[in-house]
Amino acid sequence: MLGRQTASGLYKLQTSFCFHSPRFMNRRVPSSKRYQPTEYEHAANCATHGLWILPSLVGGSVLYFLSADQWHRVAAWLYGGGLTGLFVTSTLFHTAAWKIGHLRRVEQRFHMCDRMAIYFFIAATYSPWLMLRELGPWACHMRWLIWVMACVGSMYVFFFHERFKLLELLGYVSMGTAPALVILSMVTCGGVRAGGRRGLVRGGVVFFKSDGLVPFAHAIWHLFVAAGAGVHYYAIWKYLYVPGPMLQTSR
Ligand SMILES: [Zn+2]
Repeated sequence: MLGRQTASGLYKLQTSFCFHSPRFMNRRVPSSKRYQPTEYEHAANCATHGLWILPSLVGGSVLYFLSADQWHRVAAWLYGGGLTGLFVTSTLFHTAAWKIGHLRRVEQRFHMCDRMAIYFFIAATYSPWLMLRELGPWACHMRWLIWVMACVGSMYVFFFHERFKLLELLGYVSMGTAPALVILSMVTCGGVRAGGRRGLVRGGVVFFKSDGLVPFAHAIWHLFVAAGAGVHYYAIWKYLYVPGPMLQTSR
């Protein structure tokens, strides 16, 4: 009897704490509307990306100082810049959404920057592999093509932000897969699979779509993104920058 009471009490506590507490999660909204995070969720959204700004700056600098030549240095700048830029714009956007959410137009601009940064982040993460590994005569064009794709994606965000969500998703997916096909055509692709952070990010997508269902869903998604970026950084550091037998560059 006592056991059953305790269990039902625990259930009530859990449901009221996790699923109905206005402090930790608000009600789910239809997909056409934007979910309104609670104060705690706002803070978690800012912290889970803000914390990575300094480490990504340090990480980019480490790659720069490990550089063997000009190509390495440029790749370190691009990758470090893309990584830091992603965390900075995300933190700025979430801070704006939290503190000046009532200024809809300003918040909208920050949101657009956040979306644009994702395109440049994708281009930046592929750049070291495309620049520091041997590519075929056609595939080498992907080095600059990926930046053109990032610019086209950003222009799309500028003109049609949040209007055709499916098209936007298609843009991210095609930008995420096209360079991967090129990398698979590489003569030597050792380490590329180790950089496969996409498995981690794919796992996190569940949380990206769970606002209002799981408390702190967006902050959890941020952690998946950060973990994916960490794994990818490790692969770039190990296979493209650390001197030794692992390093195979020929351009
Ligand atoms: Zn976010």
